[in-house]
Order: sequence, then C-alpha cells, then structure tokens
Amino acid sequence: MSAANGTVLVTGGAGYVGGFAVRALLAAGERVVILDDLSTGHRENVPATVPLVVADLRDAAGVRSALADVQFDAVMHFAANAYVGESVRDPRKYWENNVGGTLNLLGLCLDRGVGAFVFSSTCAVYGEPPVPALREDLPRAPVNPYGRTKAVIEQVLEDYAAATGLRSFRLRYFNASGASEDGTLGEDHEPETHLIPLVLRAATTQSPLKVFGTDWATPDGTCVRDYVHVEDLASAHVAAIRRLRDGHAGGALNLGTGRGTSVKEIIEAAERVSGLTVPWTAAPRRDGDPPFLVAAPGRAAEVLGWAPRWTSIDRIVGSAWKWHQRGRSQP
Ligand code: UDP
Repeated sequence: MSAANGTVLVTGGAGYVGGFAVRALLAAGERVVILDDLSTGHRENVPATVPLVVADLRDAAGVRSALADVQFDAVMHFAANAYVGESVRDPRKYWENNVGGTLNLLGLCLDRGVGAFVFSSTCAVYGEPPVPALREDLPRAPVNPYGRTKAVIEQVLEDYAAATGLRSFRLRYFNASGASEDGTLGEDHEPETHLIPLVLRAATTQSPLKVFGTDWATPDGTCVRDYVHVEDLASAHVAAIRRLRDGHAGGALNLGTGRGTSVKEIIEAAERVSGLTVPWTAAPRRDGDPPFLVAAPGRAAEVLGWAPRWTSIDRIVGSAWKWHQRGRSQP
C-alpha cells in the first residue's frame, strides 16, 4: 500500500518535463508547490491552483527565505540547464546552476529532514558507451560538462543517502519528447535544439533540417535515440516519490523505452503525421553526439512497476505535431 499523499516541491515545474510532472502529481491527489526562476520555464505552464515561488537556486539565502513558510515532504528536482553544446561553451553556467544550485537545495532538504528526493538525471551520464543497450550498472563516464554536472549530483545523492535520511531516485531520461494529447502543453525552448521540434519546424517552413551525420555506423547512417514521451516520464516520477515514501532506498533508473529510432525514421514519422515533406540536408556530425543511445529499460519496471504507455513513435511525433500547430496558430 502506498504511503499517504503529501506536498511535493517541484523545482523547474514551469518547464517542459516539470510541467508534465506537476499535472501528474495533481491527478494523483498530491499537493504541489513549484519553485522556478522562470529563466527557461513559462508562468503559463503553472496551473492556477498551484503556488509558484520564483527564486534562483544559486541564491541559497534567497531560496531559504522564499521557502521559509512552505512545508513539503518530498522534492522533484527538474530545475537545471540542459543543452550539451551550451555546456561546452559556458561550463560555468552549468557548474554554478546544476551543481551549485542543487547543493543549496540539498542542504535545505537535509536541514528540514526531507526524506524523498527525485532527481532529473540523464543518459548523458553514460557518455559514449561501448554497448548498444544501456544498463544502469554501466560506469558513469560523461563526455561533456552537462553530463558531468548530472553525474556529480548522482554521486552527491549516493553519499548523502549513505550518511543521512535523504533517499533518492536518480532518473536517467533518454530523449524526452512529445506533448499532451489535448495539445495544451509541450516543448517550448528558445533556442530550440531538439530533433523533433526542429523536424516539425522544417515541415512547416520548408527550410531544410540539418541532419548531423549520415555516415555513422548505424543501420541508415543517422544517429539512433530512445524517444520517451514526457507523460511517461511524469508517471515514473510520481511512482518514484511513492516508493520513497514507502521506505524504498531509491537508486538510479533508466527512463527509456528500449526502442531505437534513427533521425531518418523521425523525419519519416513527421511526414506521415503531418502529411508534409520534411526537407533536409546532410550536415557534419555534432560534437559530443554518440551514434546510439538506447535504454535497457527493465529496472524501472521492476522497481517502480513502470512501463511506457506511449509506445508508438508516430503517436509521440503526432502529439508534438498537434502542439506545434497550436503554437503556430496563436499570435
Ligand atoms: N539532430 C539532427 N539535427 C538537428 C537536431 C538534432 O540531426 O537539427 C540529431 C542529433 O545529432 C541527435 C538526434 O538528432 O543524433 C537527437 O538530438 P537531440 O538534440 O534532440 O537530443 P540528444 O540526443 O542530443 O539529447
């Protein structure tokens, strides 16, 4: 039986994955408080019933004072910078925010005796793995500053769990993608660097997509990724909070489908769901891109009873298409 509901502090709850997690928590009957600095999140993603604390995690004193009267028993921590390329150009931003900001948040959790922490990690902690399907027991070997900041916090969480009552799940996302079925919540980054939104943009503008590398050692020469729908990521987070409240020790879990899809296959899916052609040109490989990143997904199923429900790539791309069209139809 699940422990009673409580109040979950969701950092980055005005963002893409965090926004879906907030909706899933509310649907599961949890109380939610969002902390977000609105640097990349959007105020309109915050449901009217949910309190929003606008604060920057790098400002430890400011966050403590902003949360002084806010009670919470669990944390989902999404707030972070998440562009690989930017992390190479501006590592300070990543170390100060993703690591410095998270240490401030964790310090507050320790001081308040919070026992349940769910951390947004990433398959980037694996680096350029030598095996096709990634299991959680592979060593962490990130190859860029973004992945290193996430790997370091995973290590901090392990150290804290060994010595304190702060238990955590480190959820390693593969490629978060898609939008809500009703087209009201989706991916909205500026600048956009992710494949699916850029493919859909190419379909509507007819300005060619650059395909980064067509000569990889993959079946069709383009990179293969594991695209997992954000609603599935969100449901895993809710299950993780509940397992921690039930006393589970936590751990590192992949959140992926186990299914690989190439860049060309995403283009073809976008053409099917939109009825438009997607113009593209071959471009040089992008720095830091491993050719093949696909999850071995079994452990999350065992530990959380979680399995992705969005198993069709056409449905995932179709939901993003609906969101993309809605964005374009608004002033
Ligand atoms: N990609 C591409 N053209 C683009 C953007 C991405 O060919 O304009 C490729 C990229 O090289 C990678 C895949 O699409 O192989 C997914 O990239 P994305 O940035 O969406 O996610 P990542 O796997 O880097 O987290």
